[in-house]
Amino acid sequence: MLILNIVTYFGFTRQEVIVGKICLGHNFGNITADAVVIGGGIVGVSTAFWLSKAGMKVVLLEMRDALSSLTTAASVECFRTQFTESSMADLSLESVKMFENFKEIIEIPDIDIGITQRGYLFVTDDSNMVSDLEKAVVRYHELGVNDAEFITGPELGERFPFLATGALAATYNQKDGWLSTHEATYGFAKGSKNTTFYTKTPVTDIVMDGRGVAGVKTGMGNIATRMVVNCAGPFAGGISKMAGLEMPLRTVRRQKCYIKTDPSLLPEKAPFMVDLVNHSYWRPEAGGILCAWVDPDEPETEPREELPTDWDFAAESIHRVSRLNPFFETIADKIVASDIDVSAGMYVYTPDDKPVIGPSGVIEGFHLNCGYWCGVMMSPGAGKRVADIATGKMANEDNPLRYSRFAEGAVEKGATFLK
Ligand SMILES: Cc1cc2nc3c(=O)[nH]c(=O)nc-3n(C[C@H](O)[C@H](O)[C@H](O)COP(=O)(O)OP(=O)(O)OC[C@H]3O[C@@H](n4cnc5c(N)ncnc54)[C@H](O)[C@@H]3O)c2cc1C
Repeated sequence: MLILNIVTYFGFTRQEVIVGKICLGHNFGNITADAVVIGGGIVGVSTAFWLSKAGMKVVLLEMRDALSSLTTAASVECFRTQFTESSMADLSLESVKMFENFKEIIEIPDIDIGITQRGYLFVTDDSNMVSDLEKAVVRYHELGVNDAEFITGPELGERFPFLATGALAATYNQKDGWLSTHEATYGFAKGSKNTTFYTKTPVTDIVMDGRGVAGVKTGMGNIATRMVVNCAGPFAGGISKMAGLEMPLRTVRRQKCYIKTDPSLLPEKAPFMVDLVNHSYWRPEAGGILCAWVDPDEPETEPREELPTDWDFAAESIHRVSRLNPFFETIADKIVASDIDVSAGMYVYTPDDKPVIGPSGVIEGFHLNCGYWCGVMMSPGAGKRVADIATGKMANEDNPLRYSRFAEGAVEKGATFLK
């Protein structure tokens, strides 16, 4: 394990930490890199980790003060394998295994990413949906998600007694769950032995020459490289434009609320629970709960770092989750305003609601790892895939999430719940 530095050249701190080199405030001299990763969210840092593990000299550029501080910090930190499309199920199964074996993968024994596998429980009380749930589980099994279960009848109430009596059916996989995205992102950073991380360093342009990508420009100077990976989260569309690539990305605000709650009011060992009828969800979180709903009518908006929250989002979320989780009514009675914190980030959607991973195929040296509404859960496998394709371990034709799928018409249809 390397002992490297966090350095503030223009400030006063110099701190030794066990991490790849993180530099705050700097001026590049003549830096070159095998690969430059743009964006220090969980997707970018995982990508840097895998490229560095493949033997490349990597530079990661993050415009904000810290890694894991934009969308990754806004998420509810969950992961699941319940997907009806093989491209998504494969990537999530691989990623969950990596989360389960995180210490071994990053080769740091004392890292704890707080992995909690209590399952995702998708529930309906609409009799018209029951057969869809049953079919979804058949599909999950076909895709190798063998632990997924279809639960109906009295068994549902017996196993999840906190549900309303009207709940009719559910899909459940106990292997799904949640973790600390902060610890996972910094774990990938600490495990990246050949990556230098620059925070407070916005990329302002991509340098091109006759061969393709030749470098990146920042306010601190330029970096020469033949490989750039766009992991800029909601800002990925703008980064691609710098390289001359117009991507069909849509950015949509999503909110969540944390509610401080007396733990004795919560069901023991509760899963991540989703009400499929009104798109609401909740899960336990230290000292309380996280809850939210995904508004299908939320309009697309331009990417922004600071996002407003709706004054009534918490009340609306509680109202919605209470429908199938009646114990929320007791919680609602006891909440005071200071118990509630509402925050927002952005989901990024592509035309088929799946991320774009690997070489752009259009601009030599310009690679993509973006277009996520589910970037936390896919980050380990997606970062590895970028590295595997770049180093020839995987052919891009074998990567169903390649960018060229849109032009090829090779888009996989699916009916994954809640996205
Ligand atoms: C309310 C909510 C709940 C969610 N829940 C889940 C969940 O449970 N599970 C899940 O898997 N996903 C969830 N998501 C989605 C998930 O948070 C994102 O898909 C994931 O964090 C994307 O990671 P990222 O690294 O691509 O993006 P980000 O974390 O946004 O990182 C991108 C980084 O790029 C940087 N950047 C942008 N432009 C530049 C530039 N020009 N120069 C340098 N740096 C730049 C940004 O500052 C940012 O730090 C949720 C999202 C929201 C909003």
